[in-house]
Amino acid sequence: MYDVIIIGAGPAGMTAAVFAARKGLKAAIFSKDFGGQVNWTSDIENYMGFTEINGRALMDRFQAQVKEHQLEEKQTEVRSIRRDGEFFTVETVDGEEYLARTVIVAVGKRPRTLNVTGENEFRNKGVSYCSTCDGPLFRNVPVAVVGGGNSALKAVFDLNIYASEIHLISLTELTADAVLIKRLSGISKLKQYLKHSVVEIKGSKLVERIAVERLEDKNRFEIPVQGVFIEIGLDPNTEFLEGLVEKTEKGEIKIDCECKTNIPGLFAAGDATTIPEKQIIIAAGEGAKAAINAWEYLLQRESLKTLVNV
Ligand SMILES: Cc1cc2nc3c(=O)[nH]c(=O)nc-3n(C[C@H](O)[C@H](O)[C@H](O)COP(=O)(O)OP(=O)(O)OC[C@H]3O[C@@H](n4cnc5c(N)ncnc54)[C@H](O)[C@@H]3O)c2cc1C
Repeated sequence: MYDVIIIGAGPAGMTAAVFAARKGLKAAIFSKDFGGQVNWTSDIENYMGFTEINGRALMDRFQAQVKEHQLEEKQTEVRSIRRDGEFFTVETVDGEEYLARTVIVAVGKRPRTLNVTGENEFRNKGVSYCSTCDGPLFRNVPVAVVGGGNSALKAVFDLNIYASEIHLISLTELTADAVLIKRLSGISKLKQYLKHSVVEIKGSKLVERIAVERLEDKNRFEIPVQGVFIEIGLDPNTEFLEGLVEKTEKGEIKIDCECKTNIPGLFAAGDATTIPEKQIIIAAGEGAKAAINAWEYLLQRESLKTLVNV
């Protein structure tokens, strides 16, 4: 029986783990990987204490800090959470079940797919959702980046080191931060197609070209590329909570300012929740809050128990 099981080891989950352990709670952290989305990005320039740090390096520091404390770490995927009386049963994909008095869900988000012909067929054969991970595979070849937000522009900067040409295709005008948009002007190998959509990814064994449509007049044309980086947003990893906890239409877990969900004892933190901004420093802060509030919850129940026993 754990006091708290934390699901997910991104910035939110790992911070929750440290705070829970420091409160003396018997804690476990279960996650598919350690680092979450931050592992997919190269340079972080807005996490306080570091003017600039590589994403994976920052997460290595988080993980090292988790390891300083006594708690169980398990690399696994959680398949379901059940409420059994006043406890929770957490079931992993390998069929193991664990009991906890509280749970903190910090499962973050995953990249959204384009849903066009060729996307699945050429996944890992030219189609990628992570420029930091796969950028070096596209040296001296033309690539496309799909999207117009911060992630898409960061992919452009990543790929600028490797690719021979970068074609940026966005359904709308660019929606990224002004500081990032300004930096695009220095990239001579970049061509922008705003208010265009990618309608098909084509090739034989590997990606060879994309079909693009101009929204205004439906004019179609093809661009020869060997890589397609899809950076069109993220969906929360919350499907496994269906029927248990209240979520929004987008699948984000509804929480209050104390990271409480509608289920007593079930807390949530970070990008998987309704907090308005999705950033590392915010996810980490929310993780801290969730752990402190889980501790408060346990404390209150303990005192209730004592009163009943008296
Ligand atoms: C390309 C990119 C660049 C970014 N750049 C910046 C930046 O410069 N600055 C900034 O502040 N933010 C940046 N962000 C946003 C930042 O990465 C997120 O806000 C932050 O990672 C959210 O942390 P989290 O812990 O909530 O979720 P995540 O980082 O998504 O972590 C969730 C964890 O849960 C695990 N998990 C999911 N489902 C399950 C399950 N069922 N069972 C077990 N484990 C599960 C995942 O494997 C993962 O380890 C960037 C994001 C992207 C994608």
